[in-house]
Amino acid sequence: MIIGIDDTDSRSDGGCTTYIAAVLVEKLQKYGDLADYPLLIRLNPNIRYKTRGNGAVSLNIEIDGASEADEVKEVVLDEVRSQSKLSDENTNPGVVFLDDTPSDMRSDLESFSRRAMQDILWIQDAKDLINIYGIDSCGFKNGRGLIGALAAAAVASNGIPDHTFELITYRMPAQIGTPREVDAGSVMEADMQTYPRTWDTVDIANKAVVCVPHGRDPVLFGIRGEVDGVIDATDHIRSEQVERAVLFKTNQGTDMHLMRSTIDQTRGGRSYILRGVVSSAPRTIHGGHVIFEITDPQSGSGIDCAAFEPTKNFRDIIRQLAVGDRVVVCGSMDDGTVHLEKIKIEHLTALYETRNPVCTCGRRMKSAGTGQGYRCKRCRTASLVPDRVPIKRILDCGWYEVPPSARRHIAKPLVRCAGGSHPVHPGR
Ligand code: ATP
Repeated sequence: MIIGIDDTDSRSDGGCTTYIAAVLVEKLQKYGDLADYPLLIRLNPNIRYKTRGNGAVSLNIEIDGASEADEVKEVVLDEVRSQSKLSDENTNPGVVFLDDTPSDMRSDLESFSRRAMQDILWIQDAKDLINIYGIDSCGFKNGRGLIGALAAAAVASNGIPDHTFELITYRMPAQIGTPREVDAGSVMEADMQTYPRTWDTVDIANKAVVCVPHGRDPVLFGIRGEVDGVIDATDHIRSEQVERAVLFKTNQGTDMHLMRSTIDQTRGGRSYILRGVVSSAPRTIHGGHVIFEITDPQSGSGIDCAAFEPTKNFRDIIRQLAVGDRVVVCGSMDDGTVHLEKIKIEHLTALYETRNPVCTCGRRMKSAGTGQGYRCKRCRTASLVPDRVPIKRILDCGWYEVPPSARRHIAKPLVRCAGGSHPVHPGR
């Protein structure tokens, strides 16, 4: 039986859907083994209803017998009911139970989960699939959580084309709401010992610990990476008492939200990979955000791209772009602007500055007056044209990304892209 759960927590009251999964891993043990790791699936990061990272969870448990199945469903629904922050108007839990998945249902589920990661769905889209295939489900309040619950269950049923891991540790219940005690030095050490098998544990350039959240939720810290890396890293970290820890398989760090497209086809709320030529020089606006425009030479359509203030040192790369540079940008569309997550610089245009020409005697000529060219003071030689001197570009071609502290959960870090045909410059 595959169990999908979503939308149980609240920005103000805390909670966490992954914690419900973590508790269920323990409570469901007596009914059967898990067929795979618990899944933590990140959906479209642009959904306005999300609490934090638009995550949903699913468990795939091997149980025999209908009576056991009924009991499992009861345990799950009791846990969701008791842990969900139902008084928050934005918390609308959804739970689905998948048993058999015939092939036509699988392909519909596959397309539903892809749309949940890349597009914007209606609650009715989930309800329609649930009705067509008679899927057992429970939507609390308006049932919006059915979207994420069905998507996460669908991924468990169909398999994930690419995955990473996150080991999440949880706090003792009495500690929730107090400042987290996690030794920053041990987190740095964990990162040094395990990077690049782990990533986004710390942000070295911006001197920040990234793996420890700050809200009222029960998560103590989460380590992302490959399976052996996250286990090794967790062993290095000294902290307050851990209540439980769960290793999730996840689509974090996979870029599953990105769609290849062209500038004229983009729509708000989706995330894209777009090719273009820089058509306006980067400018820093109020708040420290850096904006430039790219244009598609084929259609002539242009779009603004932004490296926002929280992307910190990534903005220094963006500021060095010049009109004529060929780039590929990755990020989501909002208010007609691409919010940059990554950029590939494919070609740097040659830049020149003009200088007064050098005379045959070796001295630099002086201006002879407006529109009158240049003249050498010593030997009186004249020239009408200035010298064009190439400017050395200090940027290299290749991929650049926002730093770990500004990374979206689902975005693929460049440390996972090394060894491809283009150089990568991982943010660290
Ligand atoms: P956390 O990660 O902390 O558990 P969250 O950030 O995942 O919280 P939720 O509380 O789950 O946020 O709220 C997100 C809501 O958006 C859920 O109801 C989910 O079903 C819904 N949702 C997810 N993806 C989409 C989508 N593509 N289109 C429309 N709604 C979506």
